[in-house]
Amino acid sequence: MKDKLKLWKEHPTWEQAEKAWDSGAHSAEKEHPIKRLTSLPSMPGITEETAQGLKWKSLKWMIGKDHDRKILKSFLKHPIKYGWAWLKSIVKKKSFKRDGDFFLYGVDSVEEFSQLIQDNHSIFVIGFSYCHKPFECPSGRFTPDCIHDSENPVCRQCFIGKAVNALPETNVIPLFIPTIHYIGGQIFDIVHGNPGKRVLFIITACELTLEMFGDWGNMVDIKGLGVRLDGRICNTMKAFELSENGIKPGLTVVLDDTQKRIMELIRKRANNNVGEFRIQNTEFRSRDK
Ligand code: SF4
Repeated sequence: MKDKLKLWKEHPTWEQAEKAWDSGAHSAEKEHPIKRLTSLPSMPGITEETAQGLKWKSLKWMIGKDHDRKILKSFLKHPIKYGWAWLKSIVKKKSFKRDGDFFLYGVDSVEEFSQLIQDNHSIFVIGFSYCHKPFECPSGRFTPDCIHDSENPVCRQCFIGKAVNALPETNVIPLFIPTIHYIGGQIFDIVHGNPGKRVLFIITACELTLEMFGDWGNMVDIKGLGVRLDGRICNTMKAFELSENGIKPGLTVVLDDTQKRIMELIRKRANNNVGEFRIQNTEFRSRDK
C-alpha cells in the first residue's frame, strides 16, 4: 500500500501530482489501451414504467433481498430513530436536491458540502459502483475489492484508481460497491462504529439507484453527494436486478466534468490534511492496515 500511494504523495503540490498521474495515464493508454465506450448512449435515466412506485419497489428490494438480515439487525439498533427519519424522508416527493450530476442528500448545496468535507474529524466515505470499473479490472468487476495500483496500466487509466490514490488518509474510507445491501451494511457499520462523528459521503451510482435509495441514506442521517453515472446505466428494474446479481455487460462512466468536480472536493479534503500530507512523506499511516 505504501508504494501504491507514493505517486500522489511524492509531489509537493496537488497540481504536480495530478499532472504526473494524467501523464502516466496517457502513456498507459498508448501501451495497454482498455476498452472504453466509443459513444455515450442516449437513454433516459429511468424509464417511465420503472419510475412508477419507486419508493415501494425500493422498500421491497431492501427487505426482500436482505438475506443475512444485516440491514434489519442494524435498523433494530435504533428502530424509533431510524423509523421516524425514514418516514420523514419518504413523504417527500424527492429525497434529494440536484445540481447537475450531483444528487444532494442532507445538504442544500455543493458549496455547503465542500465546507463540511474540510472538517477532517468527520468520516468521509467515498464509494464507487462496480459498473464503472474497467472490464480489465485486476480486482474483478463484481467485487468489493480494488488494488488501485498506480503502476498497473489498467488502474492508471481508471478514474477510481486516480481518485483513490489522491485521497488523504485520515478518516477516509474508500468502498467499492457490488450491491445495495453491501453499501447499506457498510454505512450502518461506519455510523455505529463512530458514534458522535459526522459521516459524509460521495457515492457513484445510476440515477435509478440514487432515486430508489436516497430515503435510506436520509434515515441514517448521513450527508453527501450521489454522483450520477452515464453510459450503459441501469434504467429499468430488470437491468437493476441483473446488475445486483453481477450481470452487467455494459460499462458506465463518470463524465469528465463530473470527474473534475469530484477531484476538486477530494482536493478540498486533502488540503485540510496538509499536516498529514507532509508527515506521511516520511511516515505513512495506511488506511489498509
Ligand atoms: S483502480 Fe481499482 S477499480 Fe480501477 S482498475 Fe484498478 S483495481 Fe480496478
